[in-house]
Amino acid sequence: MDGLPAWADVIIVGAGPTGLVLACELQRRNVDYLLLDREEYCVTSSRALGVQARSIEIFEDLGVVEEALANGVQMHGERLFVDGAVAVDWDFDKCDSPYAYPLILEQSETERILFTRLLELGGKDCIKRPVEVKKIHIGRLPDEGVSVMVEALPGTKEVDDDQVETHVPPEEFVPPSKTIRGRYIVGCDGARSIVRKACGIPFPGSTLPNEFIVADVRIKWGVPNEVNKFNLMSANGRMICCLPLTKNRWRLITIRRTGVSDGEIVLDPSYYTKAPTREELQTLVQKVVPGSLIDEVLWGSCYSINSRCAAAFKHHNAFIAGDAAHIHPPLGHQGMNVGIQDAHNLGWKLALVVNGGAMSSLLDTYDQERRPVGESIVYYTSVGYKELIEAKGWVKWSMKNVLPMVFSINAVNRALSHSMSMTSIRYPPSLDETLVGRSHIPGAIQPGQRAPDAYLGMINEKRGTEFVRLHQLLATPHSSLLLLVRVPMTGESEQKGFIGWLGEMLGAHQARKDPGVARALESAVHLSADVSRRTGVPSRSPHTGTRLLLIFTAGKASIVPSVTRRKDGMEGGSLLHMLQNVHQHFARSIGLSREDLLIAWDVDGEVVKNYKLATQLDPFDHSGAFVSIRPDGYVSHHGLMDDHEATDSYIAALDKLF
Ligand SMILES: Cc1cc2nc3c(=O)[nH]c(=O)nc-3n(C[C@H](O)[C@H](O)[C@H](O)COP(=O)(O)OP(=O)(O)OC[C@H]3O[C@@H](n4cnc5c(N)ncnc54)[C@H](O)[C@@H]3O)c2cc1C
Repeated sequence: MDGLPAWADVIIVGAGPTGLVLACELQRRNVDYLLLDREEYCVTSSRALGVQARSIEIFEDLGVVEEALANGVQMHGERLFVDGAVAVDWDFDKCDSPYAYPLILEQSETERILFTRLLELGGKDCIKRPVEVKKIHIGRLPDEGVSVMVEALPGTKEVDDDQVETHVPPEEFVPPSKTIRGRYIVGCDGARSIVRKACGIPFPGSTLPNEFIVADVRIKWGVPNEVNKFNLMSANGRMICCLPLTKNRWRLITIRRTGVSDGEIVLDPSYYTKAPTREELQTLVQKVVPGSLIDEVLWGSCYSINSRCAAAFKHHNAFIAGDAAHIHPPLGHQGMNVGIQDAHNLGWKLALVVNGGAMSSLLDTYDQERRPVGESIVYYTSVGYKELIEAKGWVKWSMKNVLPMVFSINAVNRALSHSMSMTSIRYPPSLDETLVGRSHIPGAIQPGQRAPDAYLGMINEKRGTEFVRLHQLLATPHSSLLLLVRVPMTGESEQKGFIGWLGEMLGAHQARKDPGVARALESAVHLSADVSRRTGVPSRSPHTGTRLLLIFTAGKASIVPSVTRRKDGMEGGSLLHMLQNVHQHFARSIGLSREDLLIAWDVDGEVVKNYKLATQLDPFDHSGAFVSIRPDGYVSHHGLMDDHEATDSYIAALDKLF
C-alpha cells in the first residue's frame, strides 16, 4: 500500500473503457488523479464490440484512432434475414464524420489501446491495480471532498529495494487497507457501482426477462453471410445477431429462454449462470439458420439484461459514468459508447475546475448534458426489445413486409444511421448560457451540436502547403475559437486563384477597397484578445486555454496555388510573407506565440457548407463569423463578427465561468 498516495484531486474507481478514457483526459491536462481497479489487468474477452462514429472521433482526439482502425472491422450496413431469406439489406447513410461507419473492435482491444495510450501520456504512476474500493464517504460541503477506504488485493505489485516488481502470493496476503482523500470521485465502476450506492442515487428500471448469451465462434454459415455488415437472423421465434470479428471469427448474441413455451426448458437454475456450450449454440443456430455448423467456441458468457438509468449523475463531489449510470439492451451497439462519451464530457470540465480556475458550477453541466442522453438511449433500446427478439406474429410480418419499405426511405435511413452513429447528439442551452449559448445565427450549426469536420489548407513554413482536417486541429486539450473571414470572389479573382487574390486583399490598399474584410479581421483581433485574456492561450495555459484558428474562405471550392519548398526558399513566398504579417498583427495586438494562432483556408468551402453559414456570411455585408468549440468537440457559442449581442453574450459566458 506504500505506493498509494494519501491524496488525489480526482479519484476514478474502475478502469474499464469509461475509466480509461477519463484517465487519458485528465492525464493530458496534467490533473492529479488516481485510477483504481480491483482487477489486475484489462479484460481479455471481446464483450462490447460496436464503436460508433462519434466514439471513433473521440479516439482521434485521444490519438488512438489509427490503432483502433487497424484492429477493427468497418461495418457498412445491416442485414435482416427472416426465415432464411434477406428481408432488409440496409446500407448505412453516411453521416458527416470522417469515420462514417461503426467499427467492430473487441473490448479487450479497446481497453488495451486506451491503457497503452494512458501509459504513453505518462499515467503509469496514477494507475493502481488490483486495489478494491471498499467504502466511500462523500462530504456534503464542497470543500469537504471525498474519502475512500481501499484494500490491496493479492497480486498487488510491490517494489523491492532493487526496484523489481514482485507479486504477493495469495497465501501470504493480508489485505492492507488505506484511506485516500480527494476533491472529487468518479464512479466508472460498472453496473453494480459502489460509488452510485454510496451516493444513494436510485437506479430505477427493470431487469428484462431472459438472459443474453454471447459467444465468439468459428462457424460455417448455412446462408451467405457478409463480413462488413451486422447480420440479424430471425426464424422460428428466435433471433440471433451475428457480428464478424477479425481472424475468421463470429460473435453470436441471442437469448437463453427462461420461459416454458417451447422445448428449450431448462430446469436447473444454475444453468443460467453457465457460459453456452457448443451443443447449446449449435442447437440454437440450427433452428435459425439451418445447415450452419459451429466448428469451435472460443469464448462464451451469459448476462442478464437490465434497462436502468440513474436518477442523477452527480451528487455533491461525486459523479457516475458509463455502466454505473446507465445499462440497457445491446440494440444498436450503443452501450460502451455512451460511457466513453460520458468520460469525454466530464474530463475537460474536471480539469478546468481543478487546474484552470473555472467555477465549480461548470461540473453541474455534466448531469444536465449527459443524463438526458443516457435516459433516451435506455428508453429507445428497451422499447419493443422483447417483441423484436422473439420476432413472432405481427412483428415477424412487419419485418418481412414493412421494414424493407421503411428502410428504403432516404429520410428514415438518414435519421436512423445518424442517430446510431451518435453524431447527432445535441446538448441543450445551459441554464445561464455559460457552456452552451443561444443561437445567434439562424439556420447555422447551433450551440450544443457537435462541431462538423472540414478540409483545410495551411502553410507550413518548412514544408509548404499542407492539407488537414479541422478535427485533426481540434484534437488538443484546448477549446478552439474559429474566426471565419469571407473574402469576395469576382471573375478576375477566380482566375488568379483564391490565395493570390487573398494576398492582394490583405494588402493595405485592397483592404481599404474592401472594408468588409478589413473590418472582419479587426473584429477577429478584438474578439481573440477578449477571449485569450479570460481563458488563456495554449502557450500560457498548456493544459487548458483557447486556441485561435483564423480561416479565410471563399464560401466555395477555390483554386489554390501551392507554396512549395525549394532550395532557394519558398515558391509562393509572398503569400507566406503575407500570412506571417497577419500572424504578427495578431501577435502584436494580443501577445501570442506561434502555437496560439493557426491560419488556414477553407479549401473546398466545406467550413461554410458544413457549418451552414452560406446564406449568412456575405462578403459585402457580414464578412466574419466566430464559432467557439469546446474541448469535447461541441459548439458552445457562435455569431456574426459584427453582431455585438452575440460577442457580448459569449464574453459574458466566459466571465461567469472564470
Ligand atoms: C460478458 C459481457 C458481454 C458484454 N457484451 C456486450 C456487447 O456485446 N455489446 C455491448 O455494447 N456491451 C456489452 N457488454 C457491456 C459492456 O462490456 C459495458 O457496457 C462496458 O464494459 C461498460 O464500460 P464501463 O467502463 O462503464 O464499465 P466496466 O467495463 O464494467 O468497468 C468497470 C470496472 O470497475 C471495476 N470495479 C468495479 N467495482 C470496483 C471496486 N469496488 N473497486 C475497484 N474497482 C472496481 C471493475 O473491475 C471494472 O474493471 C458486455 C458485458 C459483459 C460482462
